[in-house]
Amino acid sequence: MARLSFKGGIHPLKEIHEGKHATKDKGIRAYMPEEVCIPLDQHLGAPSTPVVKKGDMVLVGQVIAEAVGPKGIPVHASVSGEVTGVVQKQLLHDKPSTCVCIKNDGADTWVEHAGLGSVETAPADQIIPAVRSAGICGMGGACFPTHAKMTLPEGQTVDTIILNGSECETFITADHRLMLEQPEQVVDGLRAAMRAMKVAKGIIAIEENKRNAYEAITKAASAREGVSVALLKTKYPQGGEKQLIHAVTGREVPSGGLPMHARVVVLNVATAAAIADAVTQGKPLIERITTVTGCVKEPSNLLLRVGTPVSEVIAACGGTTEEPGKMFFGGSMTGVALPDDTVNVTKANNCLVVVNKKDAVLKDATPCIRCGRCVAACPIMLNPMRLNELCEAGNLEEAKKNNMMDCILCGSCGYVCPAKIKFPFKEAKDKIAARRI
Ligand code: SF4
Ligand code: SF4
Repeated sequence: MARLSFKGGIHPLKEIHEGKHATKDKGIRAYMPEEVCIPLDQHLGAPSTPVVKKGDMVLVGQVIAEAVGPKGIPVHASVSGEVTGVVQKQLLHDKPSTCVCIKNDGADTWVEHAGLGSVETAPADQIIPAVRSAGICGMGGACFPTHAKMTLPEGQTVDTIILNGSECETFITADHRLMLEQPEQVVDGLRAAMRAMKVAKGIIAIEENKRNAYEAITKAASAREGVSVALLKTKYPQGGEKQLIHAVTGREVPSGGLPMHARVVVLNVATAAAIADAVTQGKPLIERITTVTGCVKEPSNLLLRVGTPVSEVIAACGGTTEEPGKMFFGGSMTGVALPDDTVNVTKANNCLVVVNKKDAVLKDATPCIRCGRCVAACPIMLNPMRLNELCEAGNLEEAKKNNMMDCILCGSCGYVCPAKIKFPFKEAKDKIAARRI
């Protein structure tokens, strides 16, 4: 069978262990926290407005914060119990986040909810509103509000929805387990999205290092109208939207453009499963599968309630085997370091990696030897060596002219660089955007 791919990229599997071995065979295990602290700014767009106060009793799935603006989504209680406070908490953003904290009463009592019926019979025009009401945002990490992604601008059309099941980042196996254990739900979510957006073709794309998931999804997708499954080469960043679209359809997303400009919408497989829950059961997004790995006693794939503190997540995995030197959400290529274990899990967090002190030490950078490896690895065909020189010189105007804003921050250049250069591209992109250079 042909395996699809893209130019550039890297092979973490060939060079170091990709870190998935510890959890790829670990079935999904539900964990119920003692207390949650749910941020109201998990999604891209305006933060939601709290509608509960300290002392209120809430049920699972009850709205605790309402959507603000057209891209806004509501936030729901992830446990039943008493609201212990609406607080400001420093999480991973520059500014503190408003959070609703709830003491879990352990009863797991749900608010009444009802779906629209089967994904094949639900009224198509009610699917996107149901996705919004369920508070769904992209669960692959971006957290873009899903109803907004599914609502195309006037005059724009797409002909294909791709479900991203590549999970190319190191360490993460959450989507792998989802596709293996709940393949029908993933396919149902795709069918609901296809019907809502009036798109005839749906493709579920999976890397070949997840053969068992590929087989499970292929079986679930057989005889489903317009749905096919694509097998991808195992290569990073295969799951980048531009790389995925090129691999699956052969189309290019133009510089500065979005997937819809290649007539494609890309959704993550976990997002699709959440869409299926919203349509068939009216169930809001209050939990997610998160891979927990590194120096924990029992590396796991946990089904976590949104707002669970990292300290409880680590305890649910038996604690640590050695003193942690660093923790991050996501994989090692694009992960975000945590300040401490009081941070709470959000809808975006597909992985928590706990790194020991020895492995947390970064090697010092040395001067560039002009080997060109970063250029060969860049999936966007940028020149990271040149961009780094421009950023170091503070010449962001020239960096922008050299397509700095097309960088997808995949980290491939830093991974292959023998000089261990820390490419400052996120800061450069933020500055260019803030100064409107
Ligand atoms: S990989 Fe590192 S050392 Fe080699 S050209 Fe790029 S920046 Fe220079
Ligand atoms: S320049 Fe950007 S897109 Fe290219 S390899 Fe580096 S981080 Fe990835």
